[in-house]
Amino acid sequence: MLKRALCAVLPALFAAAALAAGAAGKSTFVLRADRVFDGVNMHTGWAVRVEGDRIAAVGPAAGISAAGAKVIDFNGSTLMPGLVEGHSHILLHPYNETPWDDQVSREGLAYRAARAVNHLRATLMAGFTTTRDLGTEGAGYADVELKQAVEEGIIPGPRVLASTRAIVATGSYGPKRFALEWRVPKGAEEADGNDIIRVVRDQMGHGADWVKIYADYGHPTFTLAELKAGVEAAHSSGVPVSAHASTPEGMKRAALAGVDTIEHGSNGTLEVFRLMRERNVALCPTLAAGEAIAGYAGWKKGRDPEPGRIKAERASFQAALESGVTILSGSDVGVFAHGDNAREIELMVEYGMPKLAALKSATSVAGHLLHMQIGELKPGMLADIIAVGGDPLSDITALRRVSFVMKGGTVYKQ
Ligand SMILES: [Zn+2]
Repeated sequence: MLKRALCAVLPALFAAAALAAGAAGKSTFVLRADRVFDGVNMHTGWAVRVEGDRIAAVGPAAGISAAGAKVIDFNGSTLMPGLVEGHSHILLHPYNETPWDDQVSREGLAYRAARAVNHLRATLMAGFTTTRDLGTEGAGYADVELKQAVEEGIIPGPRVLASTRAIVATGSYGPKRFALEWRVPKGAEEADGNDIIRVVRDQMGHGADWVKIYADYGHPTFTLAELKAGVEAAHSSGVPVSAHASTPEGMKRAALAGVDTIEHGSNGTLEVFRLMRERNVALCPTLAAGEAIAGYAGWKKGRDPEPGRIKAERASFQAALESGVTILSGSDVGVFAHGDNAREIELMVEYGMPKLAALKSATSVAGHLLHMQIGELKPGMLADIIAVGGDPLSDITALRRVSFVMKGGTVYKQ
């Protein structure tokens, strides 16, 4: 407990220094390390030149000018793009601290936002410089305002893609075990029929960068026609759509409706993953949440036999790999501790994904899917760069040893 507390204080000091430095203007850097992973391939003996908030040059160190630059050497380390969290809930904290039902129905907005400030800092310090936050789970539009606070330099945090309240079919999603005659707060905004168009537009109007729709929750909810209407309303305004779906039927409807990513896909079949691939729908597998929830239910990994739920997720993920569907690394962090995001990348490797593919899934593949100039170290991209101890291609747990974090040319951790 004490160690955790100290860890929490130190990054805060670095962050304060970084914010001060950011206000004073950005510098020119040349960063050198044993290896550079540029988001696509691993290179030895490379360097990266940063000017202002962008990457100016990348390549063999001998060819990178150090003129006017602060040079930093990272011996024994790998430089790589800042990691991307494809699926977070910055307004949730681990369910073994407080069950989801109680967070949604008993924790107030300011209290939840106060926690989220810590969550954002922990995410950035863990080397995740961008997060796609998929629903405030009852905390209104707080994600949009937290994003604003990060962008204005009021608090340290990753780039945030917000989706506000998320959209569910009436009666499908909310805290349980209340007297049935009570109207309890919901975990997302309800919509039915063509009203989904108004709700999509209202959420975009409140600042949603992505629209999140629950295509199922235990069982399929929205009809194909409803999903299509929601997707069309979002796409016609240039906003992409993420669908929660774990059942083959929910996933199929979401893919046919034209969503951009499907979250979880825990019971996906080879057939449905092939359909997703055909229709350019990416999978965000959230393996880490599955394991966390099984752990909270008493499962001791490595000691107890694997629960059915985990066996199903493993089989589903392997079918996804076989299908060739695009995979975006995303963990559903919030179910477990913020800052522990790398757990997802480790589990993708454990469940059979090659290490290089897993690294790309959290960098270049993510940058492409999120339509942002991130995830690759190449000239013109945003200077979101981290250093990790060791070589993540030989030992994926190197992602836990983050010694340096730069976001948009500002150093937040060193
Ligand atoms: Zn989620």
